Amino acid sequence: MSGFWKPGTEKPRLVDDEEGGVLFFSASASSSSGYGYASMEKQRQRLPVYKYRTAILYLVETHATTIIVGETGSGKTTQIPQYIKEAGWTDGGRVIACTQPRRLAVQAVASRVVEEMGVKLGEEVGYTIRFEDLTKPDVTAVKFLTDGVLLREMMDDPLLTKYSVIMVDEAHERSISTDILLGLLKKIQRRRPDLRLIISSATIEAKSMADFFRTSKKRRELKSMEGGLLMEPAILSVEGRGFNVEINYAEEPVPDYVQATVSTVLLIHEQEPSGDILVFLTGQDDIDASVQLLNEETQTSRKNSSGLIILPLYSGLPRAEQELVFSPAPRGKRKVVVSTNIAETSITLEGIVYVVDSGFSKQRFYNPISDIENLVVAPISKASARQRTGRAGRVRPGKCYRMYTEEYYIKDMPDEGIPEIQRSNLVSCVIQLKALGIDNILGFDWPASPSPEAMIRALEVLYSLGVLDDDAKLTSPTGFQVAEIPLDPMISKMLIASSQCGCSEEIITIAAVLSIQSIWISGRGIQREFDEAKLRFAAAEGDHVTFLNVYKAFLQSGKSSQWCHKNHVNYHAMRKVLEVREQLKRIAQRIGLVLKSCEGDMRAVRKAVTSGFFANACRLEAYSNDGMYKTIRGSQEVYIHPSSVLFRVNPKWVIYSSLVSTDKQYMRNVISIDPSWLLEAAPQFYQQRPNPLH
Ligand code: ADP
Ligand code: MG
Repeated sequence: MSGFWKPGTEKPRLVDDEEGGVLFFSASASSSSGYGYASMEKQRQRLPVYKYRTAILYLVETHATTIIVGETGSGKTTQIPQYIKEAGWTDGGRVIACTQPRRLAVQAVASRVVEEMGVKLGEEVGYTIRFEDLTKPDVTAVKFLTDGVLLREMMDDPLLTKYSVIMVDEAHERSISTDILLGLLKKIQRRRPDLRLIISSATIEAKSMADFFRTSKKRRELKSMEGGLLMEPAILSVEGRGFNVEINYAEEPVPDYVQATVSTVLLIHEQEPSGDILVFLTGQDDIDASVQLLNEETQTSRKNSSGLIILPLYSGLPRAEQELVFSPAPRGKRKVVVSTNIAETSITLEGIVYVVDSGFSKQRFYNPISDIENLVVAPISKASARQRTGRAGRVRPGKCYRMYTEEYYIKDMPDEGIPEIQRSNLVSCVIQLKALGIDNILGFDWPASPSPEAMIRALEVLYSLGVLDDDAKLTSPTGFQVAEIPLDPMISKMLIASSQCGCSEEIITIAAVLSIQSIWISGRGIQREFDEAKLRFAAAEGDHVTFLNVYKAFLQSGKSSQWCHKNHVNYHAMRKVLEVREQLKRIAQRIGLVLKSCEGDMRAVRKAVTSGFFANACRLEAYSNDGMYKTIRGSQEVYIHPSSVLFRVNPKWVIYSSLVSTDKQYMRNVISIDPSWLLEAAPQFYQQRPNPLH
């Protein structure tokens, strides 16, 4: 493979860094703004990363691992896979993979690259996310996918042989799948000298990543070549071109960050010159609330009745709505994008001049002592805050409004976030590694080690689920079946149990609904209508059975969007449920489950749910009159979430599917059970505890 870098033509300047023994490149000053009406090719050439094209190709050819650091928007994700392809790395049917931690980012960058290359999505360039595969075998040469999907591919092809280059993008995010992937890729590298890795990120600590990929600490060995290949990781840093951003802090701590961001957006719109606004909130609920408040404001206020186009951005958004976010605002209008932290580094929006930073994001936290995992609205790190601010300076000098005080930023905000693997339940992670034949999980070469307590908890749950045997090996068939299903192991186990309970048709529907954020449309101010709508479907057994009622009524309506609208059901979510259901049916058939309906026998359904989710069992505290439950496992206080149909019903024994924590720990998706089923489902799990089921 030569012919793309001609020594002597535009030889990149190598700077040998004596300290770390790594390579740095420096290039001449960065290009001007890529914003405007230039042709696609011109736009591509104006991106900062273009100046490094030759250097990147040279490094990838000569080094097993290349680490590329560059500011968001410099062109890493959309350009590098194209350069690599142009240089011939996909000849002979080989494929380039580019991973992202987030599904929405996969879709967005793939669409952009398809547009730049003038090809059709799903042909030469495609993407794969869970339950959606837009690639063609033997045709797709550049494939965007989530890091989780690439991990799954390793189950069929442990050495990932079809890929010539794997780019692990957004490595600074340190998602749990990225970390597992990095550990495994390092292993694969030893067996596949032809494989090239590119690790790219916005704010990586390049040296610690290089240290991780340094297979041998002895410098002399690293300098040596293996078949002309340098094993020492190369580091390339792409100079950005950010403009200055003025930072404004809140004077006082902000009591309601949704309200505060809304007021700030309106103020910017009133007082500041043109330029789009990007608002960072935490998730679909507060984004929907903020979009609704902004719409109400602009409809009622006389001054600004029309100038704003308000758009939400979060995962699960239908593709048509995603496209709106990327298209420029019509002349004379100002676009306001209200986003999760997906717009922090994963995707680039053009035209942003103002950023409103709530200071929060949704983060996963796991406590191995209480065995509780939560999605929590938590303060972001300084590194994140700086990234968010940087989004305002891409086209011209901008402004960032932080919804927290300067004192808070300086004194209290943590410098860096914690890698997800250190704040997650490890059940899925352990299954995946076991399925790949990695038995000594604590001894695995992690970029950051998970806690032994969390590991022990995961092993205990997996043992009780019947997924692992006494030697901590995957059981056959249950363990291998669970590993095969791309869902949370508890959901997978529920699915397998449903085959025995004779209710797999129903449980597949429930599993599909649980894999989607929410099938309801709620919002501030419409709570009553929403509650009434929900009552039409509410089942005494709980939310899972309610989902079955909604699904049935949706089918009876002829899958009508009008019907959804009338009943506060999210039409796009229901379409997704249909899709996921079909995929799960196929998987169920493949692994030999019996597809059968229980024809209304909800006892069977509840038993199947219990088989998967027994670890989330709770009992109503007898003395409590505010609906307090305690988890059987850890005696933690939990409450039924107001969105559940069992809210205020408070059956004595329940099982939940997930927890959310705001002022209290709330159980989402709750179903009532009979405690004797717990002993049936997981005798080891409950019998050892001192009389927990009295
Ligand atoms: P990086 O990965 O370095 O953050 P990207 O490759 O994602 O950068 O983006 C490079 C440039 O491509 C952006 O600055 C933007 O101009 C353009 N771009 C990327 N995605 C889109 C899109 N969906 N629509 C329009 N322009 C886009
Ligand atoms: Mg990127």
